[in-house]
Amino acid sequence: MAPSKNARTSSATQKFFCGCGGEIKMKTLFEQGKMKNVAECEKCKRLERRPSDFK
Ligand SMILES: [Zn+2]
Repeated sequence: MAPSKNARTSSATQKFFCGCGGEIKMKTLFEQGKMKNVAECEKCKRLERRPSDFK
């Protein structure tokens, strides 16, 4: 519900950016036999569970 500069209605191709300015890409990892979706910054390689965790 937070106001956003580029508020768009639920777009499937929404872009997220890290605090360092890098673009966030979704990745699928295998961990202990389980598939796990994580968000990774292209630039600083920071990993978060979801793109919205990059602040
Ligand atoms: Zn980053």
